[in-house]
Amino acid sequence: MSIQSNIQSIRTHIPTHVRLVCVSKFNPNESILEAYETGERIFGESKVQELCGKYETLPKDIVWHFIGHLQTNKIRYIVPFVSLIHGVDSFKLLTEIDKQAAKTGKTVHCLLQVHIAQEETKFGFSPDELLEIFEAGTWKQLNNIQICGLMGMATYTVNKDQIRCEFNGLKTLFDQVKHQYFSDNSSFCELSMGMSDDFQIAIEEGSTLVRVGSSIFGHRNY
Ligand SMILES: *Cc1c(COP(=O)(O)O)cnc(C)c1O
Repeated sequence: MSIQSNIQSIRTHIPTHVRLVCVSKFNPNESILEAYETGERIFGESKVQELCGKYETLPKDIVWHFIGHLQTNKIRYIVPFVSLIHGVDSFKLLTEIDKQAAKTGKTVHCLLQVHIAQEETKFGFSPDELLEIFEAGTWKQLNNIQICGLMGMATYTVNKDQIRCEFNGLKTLFDQVKHQYFSDNSSFCELSMGMSDDFQIAIEEGSTLVRVGSSIFGHRNY
């Protein structure tokens, strides 16, 4: 299957209120351009250096999302052009993004990552930690970041009920945070969940951004 036909078949499963993030990590510019030609504009990368290289060489109307684990010393390289950082997993990182964004006079859009999987390997706040952060209120003083929603990854399992349950839990948390802390602020509106193997379940459970890589570009060569 070609990239073009992969995208066409994925689109049939994505309702209009959900946006597709084409996860292009480890894939060359030619593959990204193939997806671009079909009309896709949002691309997700997980390594700072790779993202910066692609930003430099690819069309400037591409909307770049960072979906990986971001190290504080690399924030400044992506702040000038990144549209959304999905995986903010500590308050320190949020504070550092704010600091770097202030230097360039920008507001950087961020999603806080919540640990919903039954796996140690995935990053993110626990639901309790997340609520503590919001309750503490310090985030309101960070004027150069905008918390636009939450992001999570389900357990890597064939158990569809478990995946659904984890996504459902994240949606409930999202609604709670939105209600308690963003009732007067419509910018908290994104729920990033769902990858190649589980994006359809994620959409059913309330996702607004699906991050799809291998179903578009094929298996990655690491
Ligand atoms: C790689 C990656 C994806 C895409 O995964 P696929 O299974 O290839 O669709 C989505 N989200 C994150 C955070 C990733 O690192």
